[in-house]
Order: sequence, then structure tokens, then C-alpha cells
Amino acid sequence: MKYTSTRNNAVSVDAAKAISQGISEDGGLFVPMSFPQISLDDIKKMSEMSYIERAKKVLSLYLTDFTEEEISYCVNGAYKEGKFDSEKVAPVVPFNDEAYILELFKGPTCAFKDMALQLLPYLLTVSAKKTVDGKEIIILVATSGDTGKAALEGFKDVEKTKILVFYPSDGVSPMQKLQMTTQEGSNVSVCAIEGNFDDAQSGVKKIFTDKEIGAKLKENNMQFSSANSINWGRLVPQVVYYISAYCDLIADGRIVAGEKINIVVPTGNFGNILAAYYAKQMGLPVNKFICASNANNVLTDFITTGEYNKNREFFTTTSPSMDILISSNLERLLYHLTGSDDKAVAEMMGKLNNDGKYTVSEEVLNALKADFDAGCCSDDEVSATIAKSFKEKNYLPDTHTSVAIKVYEDYVERTGDDTVTVIAATANPYKFSKAVLGAVEADYVCSDEFETVDELSRVSGVKCPEQLANLKGKEPRFTGVCKKPEMTEVVFKMLGI
Ligand SMILES: *Cc1c(COP(=O)(O)O)cnc(C)c1O
Repeated sequence: MKYTSTRNNAVSVDAAKAISQGISEDGGLFVPMSFPQISLDDIKKMSEMSYIERAKKVLSLYLTDFTEEEISYCVNGAYKEGKFDSEKVAPVVPFNDEAYILELFKGPTCAFKDMALQLLPYLLTVSAKKTVDGKEIIILVATSGDTGKAALEGFKDVEKTKILVFYPSDGVSPMQKLQMTTQEGSNVSVCAIEGNFDDAQSGVKKIFTDKEIGAKLKENNMQFSSANSINWGRLVPQVVYYISAYCDLIADGRIVAGEKINIVVPTGNFGNILAAYYAKQMGLPVNKFICASNANNVLTDFITTGEYNKNREFFTTTSPSMDILISSNLERLLYHLTGSDDKAVAEMMGKLNNDGKYTVSEEVLNALKADFDAGCCSDDEVSATIAKSFKEKNYLPDTHTSVAIKVYEDYVERTGDDTVTVIAATANPYKFSKAVLGAVEADYVCSDEFETVDELSRVSGVKCPEQLANLKGKEPRFTGVCKKPEMTEVVFKMLGI
């Protein structure tokens, strides 16, 4: 399996190179040149396997330059017993007659990012051995809250790596901030940046592609790589859990092999939903992908009209991990929908950079609509959805998951579609305690994060996961804040070069 760039079809690299480099030199993203296939027979066989075995099977199709031993080492390490609060790793639980919730937040940091970021350090260190022998890998991360912590946790004390995380000072929840600023490990650094996630992301992207900075790292025997979902090593682990969820539905007798399902994903950077798209291209029977957004509904408009326009008000919502106006991974979908038209993609990305918008052709829009539906909702609707879900289903979703539930309910009302549906649940409710408590007990006021946690636990009867509860009283290690133009300087300082 070879990988090319969304902006230059002349590029051809192995998985190890795509993963260790993170982003193509032309600014494009690495994409597989073909979609490996899994048959219904394969799927039936996989329905009898453990999560780890399913992961090995899927990864071996994409990482053909890895040996079987290497893949086993990576997967066994990432999902070994005790790392996830469920022996199924990503369990599927019933929500109503047609819909099931795929719980992706059972990992060490309580967000779905763990699914990929527990595996990525293994993939990256194995890749680096094959490609950039001897160099120290510098992981540079821009985070809307969950990626930062999950990456820190995945990379802490991993040999020959350093990890630097930038998060928007006002764009993350108190629990997310505490998780990052208290991070342990000898190779980690965290800094807040004045601005929103898009500022952090564009700042990091710029540092990444800056030739001078790259040269300075090289002098010091270092090389940047990315743990953001632009890295193929982030996406490929995510393909696994959609196939795994389908296998679980078969194993539990909820569907028969071959039956199509819908997949609903609360979406920000478009990585999670794109992984589901790859699963479909591999042969997973999917009817519709339903792309769910909060008030930052640039994707809803895009999927409805074919125009992507980021020139709009930016909202800070109760689902901060989706407060994004530039969905980086959409570039990969555009590449596939245009029939691998690198020129067209480069042109659209140029327009996005210069004018903040672009429009796809009628043909691409039709292809997009054949696979995708979309919807969005407000913070008030999220709150009402949490309350209703808890009251009627005894299920306490977090704010992001609630965006997906609400958009799914609207979709069913609009279309009458009763296809069996998998809703991706992306975070534990205790990561966003204030908003969740506000939904189930509107008149309760508390100023302290852990008072909120205690009260939420009391009213809901749902226990706060230990990895969050244990942060109580912990002193922050990282309190720095910088402005966007200062990021380069901060990076050099963090690296001591
Ligand atoms: C990152 C994140 C999302 C958005 O996922 P994308 O892959 O960026 O679309 C949704 N919910 C939570 C809780 C997240 O952390």
C-alpha cells in the first residue's frame, strides 16, 4: 500500500514515511492510493474476534510495510488489558429500537482521541526506526481540548520523542485544562495560546512547514511530526472501531451480516467521520453518514450547498472540541470525491487560504450527498437532549455526543429513515460537568469544578472516572500563555535549542 498527497499525485510513500512525516511537503495530506477490501466473510469472522484481533486485521491491510510482529507489538501495547475501562475497548450499547451508542471514551483521558493516540506513539516510533533513524521526533499539537491530553498521555516518557501542546486559552473546559496543565512526564510541554482553536492549528501548521525552523531542528538531530488528525497514523486506528461496532452488532444479533447501517458522528476536524468513510470504502455496509455540528455549522452548510465558507462568526459552545471552522480532514474526502484530482484539491485549498471559501462542482456535491447527510444544533438543544436522554433512556451523554443524538433525531424526523444506526459517543460526561449538570439540574449553581463533579455524580448516579476524579487538588505544572506570533520562540524554548 502506497500513500500519495492530496495536492500532488506524483508523491508515493510507504505508511511509515507518511506517519513519521505527518504532512506532505506540498502542504497536502497523505491518503492511501487504493482502498483495501474486506469481504462479508471477513466481517463475519471478525465478529468472533476481540478488539485487538480486529485492529490487527485492519491495520495489516494499510500498514503493508510493517511486519506482522511490528503490528502485533503496536496493537497489543495500545489496547492491552487495563488501559481501557471496558474489555471491549469500544463497547456498543443500545439507545433505542434502532440506535446504538458506540462508546469511544473508555480510555485513559476519557475522550475518543485515546482510541488513536494510545496507538500512534507505537506506530510513530516503529515508523521512525524505518525512516528517520536516530532522529528525535518532536510532536507538535494544536488542540481543541481532547487531542492535547490524549497525545500527552500517549507520548509521555516515550523514548526519543518530545511532545509540545498548544491549546486556546479560553476554548477548553476546566477539566480539559486541568488534565493538560497537570500532565506528568519528562518529555512534555504545554502552553496556552491567546485565540481560538483555528489560531492554534494554523500556527502549528505554519511552524511545521517553515523551512528555516525545519533546518534548525535538523541541526539538532530532531524532526517534527504531528499527532493531529492530519496524521495518517491517527486516522487508521479509527477505521477499526467502526468495523468493530458492526461486528458487535452482528455478534449480538442486532443485524445480519450485509445489512446497511447509518453512522452519526459529532464532527469538528472531520477525522472521526472520515475514518467511517474509509471503513465504507473497504466494504463495510453503510447507508448514510450523518455529520453532526454545533453552532459552528460550516460543515452542515457545506454538505447542504456545496459551498465551504469559513467567513462567519465563531461561536464558543458547550461542545468545545467541535468549535472549529477549518475542518482539515475534509481535504482528504475532497480528494476521493473528485476522483483523486490533486490539482482541483490544491486549487480549493488555495481558495480557502486566500478567500476563506470554495465551492465544489455539481458532480462532487452529488457524490457528497449520496453518502452524507448533515445537521447542527444549538447549546440549548444540546442541554435539552442531555436532560431528555437521561430522563427517558437513563443514559447520560456528554455535550458532543448530545449534538450527535439531537442531529440524529432531527434526521429521523425529517426522513423517516429507520435504518439501524450507530451514534459515536466521543467523551465522558465528566469532562464537561458544568454543562451536563446544568442540563439535568438547571437551578444548581456551583463555582468549583469538583463540587460540580460531586453534584453531577449525586443526581445522576453515574460515577466519575478515577482518572478525572484524581485531578482534584493537583497543582498545575504548565501555566504559560503566549500570543500566536510568539509560538515559534516558545517551541525553541521548550526544545532547548
Ligand atoms: C475531537 C472531538 C470531536 C471531533 O472529532 P473530529 O475527528 O475532529 O471530527 C468530537 N467530540 C469530542 C469529544 C472530541 O474530542
